[in-house]
Amino acid sequence: MSVLTRDVTCREAVELVTDYLEGSLSTRERRRFEHHLARCDGCEGYLAQVRAVVAATGAVGPEDLDPATLQGLVALFEQYKGDS
Ligand SMILES: [Zn+2]
Repeated sequence: MSVLTRDVTCREAVELVTDYLEGSLSTRERRRFEHHLARCDGCEGYLAQVRAVVAATGAVGPEDLDPATLQGLVALFEQYKGDS
């Protein structure tokens, strides 16, 4: 398709999670993000964890989470990636 399309790295995907959950990504960014998730169990799991924490705490989105909580999730994610 477009030559401008390139793969999202895991680090970029992690940074896009907040915007993704808030629905503030452009259609193209969202497609790239979802495309990465479809192939990457680590990022898919990370998104699921953030969603679960948001649901459990009653926060509207990741930005309403305690930064330490969010940081903990990112650390968990990076630990997971490091094992693979
Ligand atoms: Zn990934």
